[in-house]
Amino acid sequence: MAKTGTVHCSFCGRNRDEVKILIAGTDGHICENCIEHAHEIIQKEFHQKKAEGKAGTLKVQKPMAIKAFMDQYIIGQDEAKKILCVAVYNHFKRINLPVTTKNEVEIEKSNVIMIGETGTGKTLLAKTIAKLLNVPFAIVDATVFTEAGYVGEDVESMLTRLLQNCDYDVEAAQRGIVYIDEIDKIARKSDNASITRDVSGEGVQQSLLKMLEGTDVLVPPQGGRKHPDQKMIKVDTKNILFICGGAFDGIDKIIARRINTNAIGFSVNKEEQELQRKNLLRFVNAQDIKSFGLIPELLGRLPIITHLEPLDAATLRSILTEPKNALIKQYTQLFAIEKIKLTIAPEVFEFIVEKAMEYKLGARGLRSICESLFTNAMFEMPGTNITEFNVTLEYAQAMFNKSKLSKLKAA
Ligand code: ADP
Repeated sequence: MAKTGTVHCSFCGRNRDEVKILIAGTDGHICENCIEHAHEIIQKEFHQKKAEGKAGTLKVQKPMAIKAFMDQYIIGQDEAKKILCVAVYNHFKRINLPVTTKNEVEIEKSNVIMIGETGTGKTLLAKTIAKLLNVPFAIVDATVFTEAGYVGEDVESMLTRLLQNCDYDVEAAQRGIVYIDEIDKIARKSDNASITRDVSGEGVQQSLLKMLEGTDVLVPPQGGRKHPDQKMIKVDTKNILFICGGAFDGIDKIIARRINTNAIGFSVNKEEQELQRKNLLRFVNAQDIKSFGLIPELLGRLPIITHLEPLDAATLRSILTEPKNALIKQYTQLFAIEKIKLTIAPEVFEFIVEKAMEYKLGARGLRSICESLFTNAMFEMPGTNITEFNVTLEYAQAMFNKSKLSKLKAA
């Protein structure tokens, strides 16, 4: 037992020489045995809470509250946000319905397809929703999938990713969200379906069908190809929300053709016509996506279609500084950790936006351009006496011109 005056564990009373580690707190000490014991208690409590949560219903905020949360991280894209909020809200309403009611009116699954240029925030939207809902989330790229039996990944591997992201908690995974990026890349290459075997296109679409609709899938826990002696995990995809995204390059022409032939949506006003030409995506419908090369059966399982607006200069400018974890806020913090105060001249923001527009990389370009401006300073300044870093337009231009990015343009 602890002798008064000696250093000892305040929880079990063991003396300093009876334990390996003794961590000091404000008014006492704790030994490694008590830490381990406390850890066990915490784990047990958490496990119980989790189990209770599973048994009950999943708490989901109202659509307007979901949107308000998204607004903190994502600039603009109001239409897509609204549609996603409602889809997610209804999806979880459906999951939470008592079994008896379920049998009366069956609410169908609300998988979503988002169409928009690269870097306009499709992945960010899906990621932000998953963060709010606190459900397992996986991002997968449709281009890696091939039809079963060919080199590449089976579509089941997306569920492996989901399981890995929640420590193989099957029940949690069964309520997760999967974002399938580049869904446009598995479009049928031609409307003539019978030309040759289309390993990466229609075959993959076919294998996605059941999974999107809801079925029991045997998932290889470590991913890769299934082999006979591997123990599979059964995952029911009925309550997994699938959100698909893609740029669908060239779909605007398909939309234009349809709108012209239908002669709707185009006003006589020239300016209005120009505006509508630029924003053709807002008229996208299932028929256009089918003409692009997604098979109707797959489209049937993606009943909610939305689009993302191209990012204009004003939006890019806001993305730089306004979201909760805006790029400039991140750099300011990175310098602040080094006790350096970062200030940026307003013209520099205009310069960054201008270059991002020029390179047509959407908001993704902002990051590369910022890196080209700040990397040098982030390399040289730590460890020096510098306490302030003023980025002027001249400095920004000089740094940018030295970067690989500017060479890219010249090429
Ligand atoms: P996509 O999936 O459409 O190609 P991402 O969602 O990956 O694009 O976006 C790329 C990056 O650009 C994101 O990490 C995010 O920081 C930024 N971004 C894109 N659109 C927005 C937006 N509307 N608001 C805030 N940030 C955005």
